[in-house]
Amino acid sequence: MLDCAIIGGGPAGLTAGLYTTRGGLESVTMFEKGMPGGQITSSSEIENYPGVTGEISGMDLMMPWPEQCQKFGLKHEMIEVTRVSKEGAVFKIHKGDGTVEEAHSVIMATGSRPRHAGFAGEEQYFGRGVSTCATCDGFFYKGKEVAVVGGGDTALEEALYLAKICKKVYLIHRRDTFRSAPNTVERVKRTTNIELVLNSTPEEVYGDAMGVTGIRVKNNSGAIRNIDVPGVFTFVGNDVNNQTLIQEDGSFLCNMTKSGQVVVDICMRTSVAGLFAIGDMRVEAPKQVISAAGDGAVAALQAISYVDELLSH
Ligand code: FAD
Ligand code: NAP
Repeated sequence: MLDCAIIGGGPAGLTAGLYTTRGGLESVTMFEKGMPGGQITSSSEIENYPGVTGEISGMDLMMPWPEQCQKFGLKHEMIEVTRVSKEGAVFKIHKGDGTVEEAHSVIMATGSRPRHAGFAGEEQYFGRGVSTCATCDGFFYKGKEVAVVGGGDTALEEALYLAKICKKVYLIHRRDTFRSAPNTVERVKRTTNIELVLNSTPEEVYGDAMGVTGIRVKNNSGAIRNIDVPGVFTFVGNDVNNQTLIQEDGSFLCNMTKSGQVVVDICMRTSVAGLFAIGDMRVEAPKQVISAAGDGAVAALQAISYVDELLSH
């Protein structure tokens, strides 16, 4: 029986791992289906993590985190968790290999994943010219022209990254104002090889047997424009990874918002005793590395108190 099971090994889960183990819980396992680090490892640059100055990639930022946790006894099992349920006071962690682990407490930290924009050809050409990761795929378009879809922080930051590698970046956004931070918008506007294609919605990505050859956009005026590019990067927001909380009868284990985020209180407690949710998956998440890490610390301290109380009876 684990004292605590942590599901997900991004900034939130890793920080929960650090605080639960260092705070005295005996047996804590973090279940992470891939390499620990989370979605920030796909970011080319992070400049708002306090105390870290200069240019640093998400991968470099996250590199030391797992080692720090393991020093205090955190176990990492590289496996997907398919479901978390609760029977009496015991949580069941259903794993991808069909086995089940038991735990006194659970900290959910499964984060979020890139949303698909929904235009024609997006699925057909995904991985063959359509991408959601500039750091992963940008290099394939070195010296070529690409399109970026979206108007948030991710789209603009990744457009800036691509502009350093590619000949030209078409930044396609459906409005004429951006969600992104003002200084990022300014940097984009100052970058001579980024062309803003505003008030324009992607209609279709087209291509041939080799992959993408362009994207068709429709301006709010109704005008259609074909932009011939071999690569299209979409950054149109994220969906919460909440599938693990779905029970056999289709209901969620704990209270959720209509848009699928986990409802928590200020201590990261869900509606189920001993179950915590942190990082991008919880309600009102600021979706930042620093806040995900902060949530991890808060939930860990709560989990320690919860397990102490449970075992003292
Ligand atoms: P995640 O980082 O999403 O980690 C969740 C982890 O859970 C993943 O590793 C996943 O593999 C694992 N997982 C999911 N489901 C399961 C399962 N069923 N079983 C086992 N494991 C599972 N934030 C900033 O502060 N500054 C930035 O500059 C910045 N730039 C960004 C750039 C990009 C391109 C992106 C995508 C995000 C950026 N963010 C930035 C946001 C930041 O990355 C997230 O807010 C943060 O990573 C959330 O952390 P998390 O631990 O909640 O979730
Ligand atoms: P986001 O802020 O939700 O922005 C998504 C963008 O995509 C919006 O501009 C939206 O347009 C557009 N969009 C949505 N659906 C679309 C569709 N179907 N077709 C075309 N365009 C569509 O998402 P994000 O940029 O990924 O950021 C997610 C969170 O992470 C945010 O909280 C962000 O602040 C944070 N983040 C922070 C940093 C940083 O701090 N440096 C970096 C990256 C991400 P509208 O604007 O018209 O809605």
